Amino acid sequence: MDLCDEPAFFRLHDPLQRLATHRAAHDQGYYAITRKTNIKDAVEAVGVPHTEVGAILVKERYVSFSYIPNPGDRILVLEEIEPLNPLRPSLLRPEPLASLRFLVDENIFALGILLRAMNCDVVQAREIIKYTGENYIDQDTRIAQFVLENGMFVLSKDRNLLKRNAITHGRLVRSAYTDDQCVEIIRLLGLNKPKAYCSRCLRCNTRLESVDKAQILHRLEPKTILYYYDFVQCPECLRIYWKGSHYEALKKRMNSIFAYAQKRVIRS
Ligand SMILES: [Zn+2]
Repeated sequence: MDLCDEPAFFRLHDPLQRLATHRAAHDQGYYAITRKTNIKDAVEAVGVPHTEVGAILVKERYVSFSYIPNPGDRILVLEEIEPLNPLRPSLLRPEPLASLRFLVDENIFALGILLRAMNCDVVQAREIIKYTGENYIDQDTRIAQFVLENGMFVLSKDRNLLKRNAITHGRLVRSAYTDDQCVEIIRLLGLNKPKAYCSRCLRCNTRLESVDKAQILHRLEPKTILYYYDFVQCPECLRIYWKGSHYEALKKRMNSIFAYAQKRVIRS
């Protein structure tokens, strides 16, 4: 008996079913597997990247992505449970990340800026492409290679990027608006509100350092010289920061994002 004669079936738990792009293919909640393939490829064939899967259950036993379904199997595919911890090993992801570093795709660039404002370690996809000078078409391959070499958590709206084997940890970002995306990631990873914002350069991610006002006077506007005394500078790109109206607006925005993220989520 093989899978042609008796298929295996898998069912996506509700939150994952909402991500499926091949809805018409499923029968009463089950998708048939009619050829020999591992469960990762079977789930991704209906549009759900493996990064979104938290556990796979076959006959009350948890299995890994390399599991090859047998004829007649009934398989349940579950979503990640929030908050997830990518620094701990799991059956599906035996190699944890050494630290939480984000790779943020081009399609959600503005989220990368907010994560940097929260002091997260962020590489923007466009920075890698810019750095290597590679052809735009080869962007996904370059990102996957960079993630493999550096062990990063990938945030993207591109399903095909997240299906790559080189990307073990990541999130298909659901929300449309930047602030909502930020709430989504804070909840997903249980991120804490920092004591102070903007310890990293928003432009290049480098940690900022104090700088003597006298050394940078020639680069400041007259009003800035008059009203502000404390400055920090990026040692890499030399951008100067101070706690002016832009900082206050960003602080207010971030505070309201954290306040919203920390509200108890009531699921219907
Ligand atoms: Zn910088």
